[in-house]
Amino acid sequence: MQILLISAEVSPFAKVGGLADVAAALPRALHDLGVDVRLVMPKYRGVADKTELKTVTSFSVPVGNAEKECSLYVGTLPQSAVPVYFLGNDHYFDRAQIYGEGGGDYPDALERFTFLSRGALSVPEAVDWQPDIIHVNDWHTALIPAYLRAGVGPNGAKSIITIHNLAYQGEFPWGSRTVTGLDDGALAPFAHAGKLNLLKGGILTADRLTTVSPSYAQEIRNDGEGLEEVLRARADALVGILNGIDDTVWNPEIDSHLWANYSPANPSGKEQNKERLRADLGLAQEPATPVVGMISRLAAQKGFDLVIAAFDRMMALGIQFVLLGTGAPEYEEFFRQAAQRYPQRAAARITFSEQWAHRIEAAADIFLMPSRFEPCGLNQMYSLRYGTVPVVRATGGLKDTVRDYTTDRTAGNGFTFTEYTPDAMLVALRRAVALYRDEPAEWANLRKHGMEEDHSWNASARNYLDLYVELAR
Ligand code: ADP
Repeated sequence: MQILLISAEVSPFAKVGGLADVAAALPRALHDLGVDVRLVMPKYRGVADKTELKTVTSFSVPVGNAEKECSLYVGTLPQSAVPVYFLGNDHYFDRAQIYGEGGGDYPDALERFTFLSRGALSVPEAVDWQPDIIHVNDWHTALIPAYLRAGVGPNGAKSIITIHNLAYQGEFPWGSRTVTGLDDGALAPFAHAGKLNLLKGGILTADRLTTVSPSYAQEIRNDGEGLEEVLRARADALVGILNGIDDTVWNPEIDSHLWANYSPANPSGKEQNKERLRADLGLAQEPATPVVGMISRLAAQKGFDLVIAAFDRMMALGIQFVLLGTGAPEYEEFFRQAAQRYPQRAAARITFSEQWAHRIEAAADIFLMPSRFEPCGLNQMYSLRYGTVPVVRATGGLKDTVRDYTTDRTAGNGFTFTEYTPDAMLVALRRAVALYRDEPAEWANLRKHGMEEDHSWNASARNYLDLYVELAR
Protein backbone atom coordinates (compact mmCIF):
# COMPACT_ATOMS: atom_id res chain seq x y z
CA MET A 1 0.00 0.00 0.00
CA GLN A 2 1.54 3.32 -1.10
CA ILE A 3 0.16 6.52 0.40
CA LEU A 4 1.10 10.10 -0.37
CA LEU A 5 -0.01 12.45 2.39
CA ILE A 6 0.04 16.17 1.66
CA SER A 7 -0.25 18.84 4.33
CA ALA A 8 0.46 22.55 4.77
CA GLU A 9 1.79 21.77 8.27
CA VAL A 10 3.86 18.88 9.54
CA SER A 11 5.40 18.88 13.01
CA PRO A 12 8.22 19.64 13.79
CA PHE A 13 8.89 21.40 10.48
CA ALA A 14 5.93 23.75 10.58
CA LYS A 15 3.19 23.90 13.18
CA VAL A 16 0.30 26.21 13.86
CA GLY A 17 -2.17 23.73 15.34
CA GLY A 18 -3.25 20.12 15.58
CA LEU A 19 -2.99 19.52 11.83
CA ALA A 20 0.80 19.50 12.16
CA ASP A 21 0.75 16.90 14.92
CA VAL A 22 -1.61 14.64 13.02
CA ALA A 23 0.30 14.96 9.75
CA ALA A 24 3.40 13.69 11.55
CA ALA A 25 1.92 11.11 13.90
CA LEU A 26 -0.35 9.33 11.44
CA PRO A 27 2.45 8.63 8.93
CA ARG A 28 4.71 7.37 11.74
CA ALA A 29 2.00 4.99 12.90
CA LEU A 30 1.19 3.86 9.35
CA HIS A 31 4.84 3.23 8.68
CA ASP A 32 4.93 0.99 11.75
CA LEU A 33 2.04 -0.96 10.21
CA GLY A 34 4.17 -1.61 7.13
CA VAL A 35 2.67 1.07 4.88
CA ASP A 36 4.91 2.88 2.38
CA VAL A 37 3.75 6.37 3.33
CA ARG A 38 5.43 9.56 2.17
CA LEU A 39 4.76 13.21 2.91
CA VAL A 40 4.74 16.38 0.84
CA MET A 41 4.84 19.86 2.35
CA PRO A 42 6.26 23.29 1.50
CA LYS A 43 9.87 24.09 2.21
CA TYR A 44 9.17 26.92 4.63
CA ARG A 45 11.88 29.08 6.15
CA GLY A 46 13.75 27.15 8.83
CA VAL A 47 12.92 23.65 7.54
CA ALA A 48 16.52 23.05 6.50
CA ASP A 49 17.61 23.42 10.15
CA LYS A 50 15.41 20.52 11.20
CA THR A 51 16.40 17.74 8.83
CA GLU A 52 19.16 17.02 6.38
CA LEU A 53 17.80 17.96 2.97
CA LYS A 54 18.89 16.35 -0.26
CA THR A 55 18.11 17.98 -3.58
CA VAL A 56 16.10 15.63 -5.78
CA THR A 57 15.29 17.57 -8.93
CA SER A 58 13.40 20.60 -10.09
CA PHE A 59 10.34 21.10 -12.25
CA SER A 60 7.93 23.86 -13.06
CA VAL A 61 4.43 24.20 -11.65
CA PRO A 62 1.69 26.11 -13.48
CA VAL A 63 0.10 28.80 -11.31
CA GLY A 64 -2.35 30.91 -13.28
CA ASN A 65 -0.66 31.78 -16.56
CA ALA A 66 2.84 31.52 -15.17
CA GLU A 67 5.20 28.60 -14.73
CA LYS A 68 6.75 28.67 -11.27
CA GLU A 69 10.04 26.98 -10.51
CA CYS A 70 9.86 24.23 -7.89
CA SER A 71 12.98 22.75 -6.29
CA LEU A 72 12.24 19.33 -4.86
CA TYR A 73 14.08 18.22 -1.74
CA VAL A 74 13.77 15.13 0.39
CA GLY A 75 14.35 14.73 4.12
CA THR A 76 13.12 12.38 6.81
CA LEU A 77 10.43 12.76 9.42
CA PRO A 78 12.24 12.67 12.79
CA GLN A 79 11.83 9.49 14.84
CA SER A 80 10.81 7.56 11.74
CA ALA A 81 11.97 6.45 8.33
CA VAL A 82 9.14 8.32 6.59
CA PRO A 83 10.41 10.34 3.59
CA VAL A 84 9.27 13.95 3.44
CA TYR A 85 9.34 15.78 0.11
CA PHE A 86 9.66 19.53 0.39
CA LEU A 87 8.52 21.83 -2.39
CA GLY A 88 10.84 24.79 -2.58
CA ASN A 89 9.99 28.16 -4.00
CA ASP A 90 11.44 30.95 -1.91
CA HIS A 91 9.07 33.56 -3.24
CA TYR A 92 6.12 31.60 -1.83
CA PHE A 93 7.57 29.92 1.22
CA ASP A 94 10.64 31.74 2.53
CA ARG A 95 8.55 33.95 4.80
CA ALA A 96 8.37 34.78 8.50
CA GLN A 97 5.14 32.83 9.07
CA ILE A 98 3.35 29.82 7.63
CA TYR A 99 0.05 31.44 6.74
CA GLY A 100 0.37 35.17 7.33
CA GLU A 101 1.58 37.96 9.55
CA GLY A 102 -0.62 40.08 11.80
CA GLY A 103 -3.90 38.21 11.54
CA GLY A 104 -5.15 36.91 8.20
CA ASP A 105 -3.48 34.85 5.49
CA TYR A 106 -0.90 36.25 3.09
CA PRO A 107 -2.76 37.90 0.19
CA ASP A 108 -1.38 35.38 -2.31
CA ALA A 109 -2.65 32.37 -0.26
CA LEU A 110 -4.50 30.93 -3.26
CA GLU A 111 -1.32 31.01 -5.35
CA ARG A 112 0.79 29.52 -2.57
CA PHE A 113 -1.50 26.57 -1.98
CA THR A 114 -2.23 26.05 -5.67
CA PHE A 115 1.54 25.73 -6.02
CA LEU A 116 1.62 23.20 -3.18
CA SER A 117 -1.31 21.20 -4.56
CA ARG A 118 -0.20 21.04 -8.18
CA GLY A 119 3.44 20.68 -7.26
CA ALA A 120 2.70 17.74 -4.97
CA LEU A 121 1.08 15.92 -7.88
CA SER A 122 4.36 16.09 -9.82
CA VAL A 123 6.29 14.40 -7.01
CA PRO A 124 5.35 10.77 -7.81
CA GLU A 125 6.68 10.99 -11.36
CA ALA A 126 9.73 12.96 -10.24
CA VAL A 127 10.70 10.22 -7.77
CA ASP A 128 9.34 7.33 -9.83
CA TRP A 129 6.90 6.08 -7.24
CA GLN A 130 3.18 5.43 -7.73
CA PRO A 131 0.80 6.13 -4.82
CA ASP A 132 -2.44 4.13 -4.49
CA ILE A 133 -4.03 6.87 -2.40
CA ILE A 134 -3.43 10.59 -2.15
CA HIS A 135 -4.48 11.79 1.28
CA VAL A 136 -5.01 15.55 1.51
CA ASN A 137 -5.77 17.73 4.50
CA ASP A 138 -7.94 20.82 4.95
CA TRP A 139 -8.51 23.56 2.40
CA HIS A 140 -4.85 24.12 1.51
CA THR A 141 -4.69 20.90 -0.47
CA ALA A 142 -8.40 20.56 -1.31
CA LEU A 143 -7.84 21.27 -5.02
CA ILE A 144 -5.98 17.98 -5.40
CA PRO A 145 -8.98 15.65 -5.89
CA ALA A 146 -10.21 17.94 -8.68
CA TYR A 147 -6.77 17.94 -10.34
CA LEU A 148 -6.77 14.14 -10.21
CA ARG A 149 -10.19 14.07 -11.85
CA ALA A 150 -8.91 16.46 -14.51
CA GLY A 151 -6.05 14.06 -15.29
CA VAL A 152 -3.29 15.97 -13.52
CA GLY A 153 -0.93 13.81 -11.44
CA PRO A 154 -0.61 10.05 -11.01
CA ASN A 155 -3.06 7.96 -12.97
CA GLY A 156 -5.49 5.84 -11.03
CA ALA A 157 -4.68 7.21 -7.57
CA LYS A 158 -7.72 7.64 -5.32
CA SER A 159 -8.19 10.62 -3.05
CA ILE A 160 -9.14 11.14 0.58
CA ILE A 161 -9.62 14.51 2.21
CA THR A 162 -9.46 14.88 5.97
CA ILE A 163 -11.28 17.83 7.47
CA HIS A 164 -9.38 18.96 10.56
CA ASN A 165 -11.48 22.07 11.08
CA LEU A 166 -14.48 23.14 9.05
CA ALA A 167 -14.13 26.72 10.27
CA TYR A 168 -11.29 27.28 7.79
CA GLN A 169 -12.52 26.82 4.24
CA GLY A 170 -10.14 28.74 2.00
CA GLU A 171 -12.52 31.26 0.46
CA PHE A 172 -11.38 33.48 -2.40
CA PRO A 173 -13.08 35.84 -4.86
CA TRP A 174 -14.62 33.83 -7.68
CA GLY A 175 -12.65 35.97 -10.15
CA SER A 176 -9.37 34.58 -8.78
CA ARG A 177 -10.20 31.01 -9.86
CA THR A 178 -7.95 31.17 -12.96
CA VAL A 179 -4.99 30.80 -10.60
CA THR A 180 -5.93 27.12 -10.23
CA GLY A 181 -5.71 26.36 -13.96
CA LEU A 182 -8.92 24.29 -13.76
CA ASP A 183 -11.77 25.06 -16.16
CA ASP A 184 -15.15 26.25 -14.93
CA GLY A 185 -16.65 22.77 -15.29
CA ALA A 186 -14.05 21.30 -12.96
CA LEU A 187 -14.47 24.23 -10.60
CA ALA A 188 -18.28 24.07 -10.37
CA PRO A 189 -18.11 22.11 -7.05
CA PHE A 190 -15.98 24.92 -5.62
CA ALA A 191 -18.61 27.63 -6.10
CA HIS A 192 -20.16 28.71 -2.82
CA ALA A 193 -22.04 31.90 -1.98
CA GLY A 194 -20.51 33.68 -4.96
CA LYS A 195 -16.98 32.69 -3.99
CA LEU A 196 -14.38 30.07 -4.72
CA ASN A 197 -14.48 27.76 -1.70
CA LEU A 198 -11.64 25.24 -1.72
CA LEU A 199 -12.85 23.05 1.13
CA LYS A 200 -16.32 22.71 -0.37
CA GLY A 201 -14.83 21.60 -3.68
CA GLY A 202 -12.60 19.11 -1.89
CA ILE A 203 -15.60 17.66 -0.06
CA LEU A 204 -17.47 17.21 -3.31
CA THR A 205 -14.63 15.82 -5.42
CA ALA A 206 -12.63 13.55 -3.07
CA ASP A 207 -13.34 9.82 -3.22
CA ARG A 208 -13.68 9.66 0.56
CA LEU A 209 -13.94 12.18 3.41
CA THR A 210 -12.80 11.81 6.93
CA THR A 211 -12.90 14.05 9.91
CA VAL A 212 -11.10 13.76 13.20
CA SER A 213 -13.71 12.40 15.60
CA PRO A 214 -16.98 10.46 15.32
CA SER A 215 -18.94 13.15 17.18
CA TYR A 216 -17.68 15.95 14.94
CA ALA A 217 -18.56 13.82 11.89
CA GLN A 218 -22.13 13.75 13.20
CA GLU A 219 -22.31 17.36 14.36
CA ILE A 220 -21.18 18.90 11.07
CA ARG A 221 -24.09 17.39 9.19
CA ASN A 222 -26.31 19.82 11.07
CA ASP A 223 -23.90 22.56 11.97
CA GLY A 224 -21.28 22.64 9.28
CA GLU A 225 -20.27 26.28 8.99
CA GLY A 226 -22.49 26.67 5.93
CA LEU A 227 -21.38 23.38 4.33
CA GLU A 228 -23.88 21.10 6.10
CA GLU A 229 -25.82 20.50 2.92
CA VAL A 230 -22.81 19.23 0.97
CA LEU A 231 -21.72 17.19 3.97
CA ARG A 232 -25.16 15.59 4.16
CA ALA A 233 -25.02 14.91 0.42
CA ARG A 234 -21.76 13.03 0.98
CA ALA A 235 -22.69 11.43 4.29
CA ASP A 236 -22.06 7.93 2.85
CA ALA A 237 -18.47 8.84 2.05
CA LEU A 238 -17.77 10.53 5.42
CA VAL A 239 -16.30 8.83 8.49
CA GLY A 240 -14.96 10.19 11.78
CA ILE A 241 -11.65 8.72 12.93
CA LEU A 242 -10.36 9.96 16.24
CA ASN A 243 -6.84 11.41 16.28
CA GLY A 244 -4.34 9.84 18.61
CA ILE A 245 -1.33 11.17 20.42
CA ASP A 246 2.21 10.61 19.34
CA ASP A 247 4.00 8.68 22.06
CA THR A 248 7.41 9.58 20.71
CA VAL A 249 6.65 13.26 21.36
CA TRP A 250 4.10 13.27 24.21
CA ASN A 251 5.24 10.89 26.90
CA PRO A 252 6.15 12.20 30.38
CA GLU A 253 8.49 9.27 30.95
CA ILE A 254 10.93 10.41 28.26
CA ASP A 255 9.93 14.00 27.43
CA SER A 256 13.14 16.04 27.32
CA HIS A 257 11.30 19.38 27.59
CA LEU A 258 10.37 18.62 31.20
CA TRP A 259 12.25 19.51 34.35
CA ALA A 260 11.56 16.02 35.67
CA ASN A 261 10.20 12.86 34.06
CA TYR A 262 7.53 10.75 35.69
CA SER A 263 5.20 7.82 35.11
CA PRO A 264 1.84 6.51 36.36
CA ALA A 265 3.68 4.26 38.83
CA ASN A 266 5.96 7.04 40.02
CA PRO A 267 4.27 10.41 39.52
CA SER A 268 6.40 12.40 41.98
CA GLY A 269 8.21 14.19 39.12
CA LYS A 270 4.95 15.94 38.39
CA GLU A 271 5.29 17.87 41.65
CA GLN A 272 8.82 18.91 40.74
CA ASN A 273 7.60 20.25 37.41
CA LYS A 274 4.91 22.23 39.22
CA GLU A 275 7.43 23.73 41.61
CA ARG A 276 9.73 24.78 38.78
CA LEU A 277 6.84 26.15 36.74
CA ARG A 278 5.71 28.26 39.68
CA ALA A 279 9.24 29.49 40.27
CA ASP A 280 9.82 30.37 36.60
CA LEU A 281 6.48 32.11 36.17
CA GLY A 282 6.51 33.94 39.50
CA LEU A 283 3.59 32.05 41.03
CA ALA A 284 3.40 31.50 44.79
CA GLN A 285 4.51 28.07 46.00
CA GLU A 286 1.23 26.93 47.53
CA PRO A 287 1.11 23.15 47.54
CA ALA A 288 -2.61 22.99 48.33
CA THR A 289 -3.60 25.20 45.38
CA PRO A 290 -4.34 23.46 42.07
CA VAL A 291 -2.76 24.91 38.93
CA VAL A 292 -5.20 25.21 36.03
CA GLY A 293 -3.52 25.29 32.62
CA MET A 294 -4.62 26.30 29.13
CA ILE A 295 -2.55 25.92 25.94
CA SER A 296 -4.34 27.12 22.87
CA ARG A 297 -4.63 29.24 19.79
CA LEU A 298 -6.39 32.31 21.16
CA ALA A 299 -9.40 31.94 18.89
CA ALA A 300 -13.14 32.26 19.58
CA GLN A 301 -13.57 28.53 18.85
CA LYS A 302 -11.68 27.68 22.02
CA GLY A 303 -14.25 29.17 24.40
CA PHE A 304 -12.31 32.22 25.57
CA ASP A 305 -15.44 34.31 25.94
CA LEU A 306 -16.48 31.90 28.73
CA VAL A 307 -13.10 32.11 30.43
CA ILE A 308 -13.08 35.90 30.24
CA ALA A 309 -16.64 36.20 31.55
CA ALA A 310 -15.93 33.81 34.43
CA PHE A 311 -12.31 34.71 35.11
CA ASP A 312 -12.71 36.41 38.48
CA ARG A 313 -15.08 33.71 39.68
CA MET A 314 -12.59 31.06 38.51
CA MET A 315 -9.81 32.69 40.48
CA ALA A 316 -12.15 32.90 43.49
CA LEU A 317 -12.27 29.08 43.51
CA GLY A 318 -8.74 29.30 44.89
CA ILE A 319 -6.73 28.25 41.86
CA GLN A 320 -3.60 29.37 40.10
CA PHE A 321 -3.95 29.91 36.37
CA VAL A 322 -1.39 29.53 33.58
CA LEU A 323 -2.02 30.26 29.94
CA LEU A 324 0.17 29.67 26.88
CA GLY A 325 -1.19 31.02 23.63
CA THR A 326 -1.16 33.53 20.83
CA GLY A 327 -3.89 34.81 18.58
CA ALA A 328 -6.63 37.40 18.79
CA PRO A 329 -5.13 40.64 20.19
CA GLU A 330 -8.08 41.27 22.53
CA TYR A 331 -7.61 37.86 24.18
CA GLU A 332 -3.85 38.37 24.40
CA GLU A 333 -4.46 41.69 26.13
CA PHE A 334 -7.00 40.22 28.54
CA PHE A 335 -4.60 37.55 29.74
CA ARG A 336 -1.65 39.95 30.01
CA GLN A 337 -3.76 42.17 32.25
CA ALA A 338 -5.18 39.24 34.19
CA ALA A 339 -1.62 38.20 35.07
CA GLN A 340 -1.00 41.70 36.40
CA ARG A 341 -4.26 41.79 38.33
CA TYR A 342 -3.47 38.48 40.01
CA PRO A 343 0.23 38.63 40.88
CA GLN A 344 1.58 35.25 41.98
CA ARG A 345 -1.75 33.64 41.06
CA ALA A 346 -2.08 33.98 37.27
CA ALA A 347 0.54 33.88 34.52
CA ALA A 348 0.31 34.33 30.78
CA ARG A 349 2.92 33.40 28.22
CA ILE A 350 1.80 35.06 25.02
CA THR A 351 4.04 33.15 22.67
CA PHE A 352 4.25 29.91 20.72
CA SER A 353 6.58 27.53 22.49
CA GLU A 354 6.68 23.78 22.09
CA GLN A 355 8.81 23.53 25.22
CA TRP A 356 6.39 25.47 27.38
CA ALA A 357 3.46 23.49 26.01
CA HIS A 358 5.10 20.32 27.32
CA ARG A 359 6.06 21.92 30.62
CA ILE A 360 2.59 23.23 31.32
CA GLU A 361 1.03 19.88 30.43
CA ALA A 362 3.38 18.28 32.95
CA ALA A 363 3.09 20.86 35.71
CA ALA A 364 -0.62 21.70 35.79
CA ASP A 365 -3.16 19.77 37.85
CA ILE A 366 -6.17 20.63 35.72
CA PHE A 367 -6.39 21.40 32.01
CA LEU A 368 -9.23 23.64 30.87
CA MET A 369 -10.67 23.31 27.34
CA PRO A 370 -14.13 24.90 27.15
CA SER A 371 -14.35 24.87 23.33
CA ARG A 372 -17.41 26.13 21.53
CA PHE A 373 -16.71 23.38 19.00
CA GLU A 374 -13.76 21.01 18.73
CA PRO A 375 -13.16 18.72 15.74
CA CYS A 376 -10.93 16.46 17.85
CA GLY A 377 -8.64 18.39 20.17
CA LEU A 378 -5.29 17.03 21.17
CA ASN A 379 -4.50 18.79 24.41
CA GLN A 380 -7.14 16.94 26.39
CA MET A 381 -5.43 13.68 25.38
CA TYR A 382 -1.96 15.05 26.15
CA SER A 383 -3.38 16.12 29.51
CA LEU A 384 -4.67 12.64 30.29
CA ARG A 385 -1.27 11.20 29.42
CA TYR A 386 0.47 13.76 31.65
CA GLY A 387 -1.84 13.25 34.64
CA THR A 388 -3.46 16.64 34.20
CA VAL A 389 -7.18 16.17 34.68
CA PRO A 390 -9.17 17.68 31.78
CA VAL A 391 -12.18 19.93 32.31
CA VAL A 392 -13.85 20.22 28.91
CA ARG A 393 -17.03 21.13 27.16
CA ALA A 394 -18.65 17.95 25.81
CA THR A 395 -18.47 18.71 22.10
CA GLY A 396 -16.85 16.97 19.11
CA GLY A 397 -13.69 15.08 19.94
CA LEU A 398 -13.75 16.31 23.55
CA LYS A 399 -16.99 14.41 24.02
CA ASP A 400 -15.41 11.30 22.48
CA THR A 401 -12.36 11.31 24.77
CA VAL A 402 -13.36 12.78 28.16
CA ARG A 403 -15.96 11.13 30.41
CA ASP A 404 -17.34 12.90 33.44
CA TYR A 405 -16.06 11.62 36.75
CA THR A 406 -18.90 12.91 38.89
CA THR A 407 -21.42 11.02 36.79
CA ASP A 408 -19.39 7.83 36.72
CA ARG A 409 -16.57 7.41 39.20
CA THR A 410 -15.42 4.16 37.59
CA ALA A 411 -15.25 5.20 33.96
CA GLY A 412 -14.77 8.95 34.39
CA ASN A 413 -11.44 10.47 33.44
CA GLY A 414 -12.19 14.19 33.72
CA PHE A 415 -14.99 16.70 34.14
CA THR A 416 -17.39 17.81 31.43
CA PHE A 417 -20.13 20.35 30.88
CA THR A 418 -22.55 20.73 28.01
CA GLU A 419 -24.23 24.11 27.99
CA TYR A 420 -22.02 26.80 26.44
CA THR A 421 -22.19 29.23 29.37
CA PRO A 422 -19.68 30.60 31.91
CA ASP A 423 -21.82 29.16 34.72
CA ALA A 424 -21.81 25.63 33.33
CA MET A 425 -18.04 25.83 32.89
CA LEU A 426 -17.63 27.05 36.47
CA VAL A 427 -19.73 24.21 37.85
CA ALA A 428 -17.44 21.66 36.17
CA LEU A 429 -14.28 23.45 37.27
CA ARG A 430 -15.60 23.73 40.83
CA ARG A 431 -16.20 19.97 40.94
CA ALA A 432 -12.63 19.37 39.78
CA VAL A 433 -11.16 21.77 42.34
CA ALA A 434 -13.26 20.25 45.14
CA LEU A 435 -12.06 16.73 44.37
CA TYR A 436 -8.46 17.92 44.20
CA ARG A 437 -8.74 19.62 47.55
CA ASP A 438 -11.05 17.36 49.54
CA GLU A 439 -10.29 13.87 48.25
CA PRO A 440 -6.58 13.63 47.44
CA ALA A 441 -6.60 9.85 47.25
CA GLU A 442 -9.46 9.88 44.77
CA TRP A 443 -7.69 12.58 42.80
CA ALA A 444 -4.51 10.51 42.61
CA ASN A 445 -6.58 7.57 41.39
CA LEU A 446 -8.34 9.58 38.73
CA ARG A 447 -5.03 10.99 37.56
CA LYS A 448 -3.40 7.58 37.41
CA HIS A 449 -6.23 6.04 35.40
CA GLY A 450 -6.05 8.91 32.91
CA MET A 451 -2.31 8.40 32.50
CA GLU A 452 -2.82 4.71 31.82
CA GLU A 453 -5.44 5.17 29.11
CA ASP A 454 -4.39 4.33 25.59
CA HIS A 455 -4.86 7.28 23.26
CA SER A 456 -2.05 6.27 20.96
CA TRP A 457 -2.35 6.19 17.21
CA ASN A 458 -2.38 2.38 17.00
CA ALA A 459 -6.14 1.99 16.71
CA SER A 460 -6.73 5.09 14.59
CA ALA A 461 -3.93 4.30 12.13
CA ARG A 462 -5.54 0.89 11.61
CA ASN A 463 -8.84 2.60 10.85
CA TYR A 464 -7.15 4.76 8.21
CA LEU A 465 -5.41 1.70 6.78
CA ASP A 466 -8.74 -0.15 6.51
CA LEU A 467 -10.14 2.82 4.64
CA TYR A 468 -7.14 2.96 2.27
CA VAL A 469 -7.40 -0.77 1.56
CA GLU A 470 -11.11 -0.59 0.90
CA LEU A 471 -10.71 2.41 -1.40
CA ALA A 472 -7.74 1.04 -3.33
CA ARG A 473 -9.55 -2.19 -4.10
P1 ADP B 1 -6.18 23.27 17.06
O1 ADP B 1 -5.66 22.38 15.97
O2 ADP B 1 -7.60 23.72 16.85
O3 ADP B 1 -5.29 24.42 17.34
P2 ADP B 1 -5.66 21.01 18.84
O4 ADP B 1 -5.94 20.79 20.28
O5 ADP B 1 -6.07 19.94 17.89
O6 ADP B 1 -6.24 22.42 18.43
O7 ADP B 1 -4.07 21.16 18.65
C1 ADP B 1 -3.37 22.26 19.14
C2 ADP B 1 -1.90 21.93 19.14
O8 ADP B 1 -1.17 23.16 19.10
C3 ADP B 1 -1.47 21.23 20.39
O9 ADP B 1 -0.37 20.39 20.10
C4 ADP B 1 -1.04 22.39 21.29
O10 ADP B 1 -0.12 22.00 22.28
C5 ADP B 1 -0.41 23.31 20.29
N1 ADP B 1 -0.39 24.72 20.66
C6 ADP B 1 -1.40 25.63 20.62
N2 ADP B 1 -0.98 26.84 21.01
C7 ADP B 1 0.33 26.71 21.34
C8 ADP B 1 1.34 27.59 21.81
N3 ADP B 1 1.09 28.88 22.04
N4 ADP B 1 2.59 27.10 22.01
C9 ADP B 1 2.85 25.79 21.77
N5 ADP B 1 1.96 24.91 21.33
C10 ADP B 1 0.71 25.35 21.10
